[in-house]
Amino acid sequence: MASNTPKDEGKSGRISRIRFKKKDMPGGLWMKCEGCATTIYRKELEENGMVCPKCSFHFTLPGPARIQSTLDEGSWEEHFADLTSLDRLNFMDSVPYGEKLDRTVKRTGQNDALICGTGEIQGRPVVLAVLDFRFMGGSMGEVVGEKIALAAETAREKKYPLVLFTSSGGARMHEGMLSLMQMAKTCSALAELSDAGGLSICVMTNPTTGGVTASFATVCDLTLAEPGALIGFAGPRVIASTIRQELPPGFQRAEFLMEKGQLDSIVSREDLPGMLAKLIDYGTANWQEYAGRGRATAALKLLEDERGRTPKGEEAGQVADGAS
Ligand SMILES: [Zn+2]
Repeated sequence: MASNTPKDEGKSGRISRIRFKKKDMPGGLWMKCEGCATTIYRKELEENGMVCPKCSFHFTLPGPARIQSTLDEGSWEEHFADLTSLDRLNFMDSVPYGEKLDRTVKRTGQNDALICGTGEIQGRPVVLAVLDFRFMGGSMGEVVGEKIALAAETAREKKYPLVLFTSSGGARMHEGMLSLMQMAKTCSALAELSDAGGLSICVMTNPTTGGVTASFATVCDLTLAEPGALIGFAGPRVIASTIRQELPPGFQRAEFLMEKGQLDSIVSREDLPGMLAKLIDYGTANWQEYAGRGRATAALKLLEDERGRTPKGEEAGQVADGAS
């Protein structure tokens, strides 16, 4: 996030750098796929929901497009849109932080990186919060943290499930310690929602890294990811050079994390609304009986069944038995 990116870097073919660019969705008629390095006609990609027609790599979706592809038409109502970040530290990057914020607000038409509101997924009311990578790499500062907390509070008050989508470079360094504080704040808001019997689902999309991975994204009741999404804390190059070892193939990709038990499921973009609707039905069916994590295990059982596997651990089995 720190360095400036030359305008033509997207065409240079240095694939390893593409995923860390702070740049928003690359412009131009042609785009290079991060998954298979094929050059794809942008229009073709858009018609395919920004999923590579050759290798099914899921490109990062801008926030508004994500909302559109997730919610029922006409059901979206944005909340807390007027919250704006302050440059409390007078932080100087290549330009002053305040100036950078103004420019990004103008370019994206949003006041910060998180878009939050209510809507319906196949007829089920939800609170939806989407991190937009176009706004300073979807980084989490005070406003993102506050809006996640407000989203969790709204979900608690309305007794709606909370659905989060992440794509982020992590904590916003321009806000220093104040941005790191949001890690604890968002986790505690989600814990309160869970204690009140609420359900939270996070869908991690490419890329979800840093302080966002290390806080609210991974502590939701259910953690899903889009295929091929890069999910991690530190970047692979930093890790490789620190431990002085070669990293295994597919390191930090969704499929790798799924295998290691860090995700509950990988769901393709096209199947997401249907899967979220099903999980909401399962996860909210026994509102009274199963508080917190217990409620999510009924939904987890569904995921296991869909994969035709035996549920992991006894807990899933017990709750699923109780729920049936
Ligand atoms: Zn591809």
